[in-house]
Amino acid sequence: MRNLRCINMKSETCFGKRSRQPLSQYFYEDEAQNAAEYLKKNYHQDLAPYECNKCGFWHLSPKTRITPSKKCTRCTAGDGTYKETYRTKKEANTRANIISGEQGVDLKVYKCRYGDGWHLTKQFWC
Ligand SMILES: [Zn+2]
Ligand SMILES: [Zn+2]
Repeated sequence: MRNLRCINMKSETCFGKRSRQPLSQYFYEDEAQNAAEYLKKNYHQDLAPYECNKCGFWHLSPKTRITPSKKCTRCTAGDGTYKETYRTKKEANTRANIISGEQGVDLKVYKCRYGDGWHLTKQFWC
């Protein structure tokens, strides 16, 4: 069971919001997925892997906090990268709340004018 070793790998850069403890980190999605299944079986925790923007490794997060997104093919953000598209307004709101809690940035949810997804934007207008 090579994956058991990875359960104890702690991040040096990323910490839990409430616990303030270092997050477990995984190098690959399947390692994180295995750990999630292990925790579900043994501790009844419902977690899902996500790729961390900060450290580039994978962490686990409660499923309610996971908001799947894909890149919009037409809308770009201020820095020229394509915007994330959320499937529903609810998921976009969940993500906006998480970002606001973690980074103190207020984001506004709006419907993509080309597709049927939802985007986030910073609340200032030029
Ligand atoms: Zn991280
Ligand atoms: Zn768009």
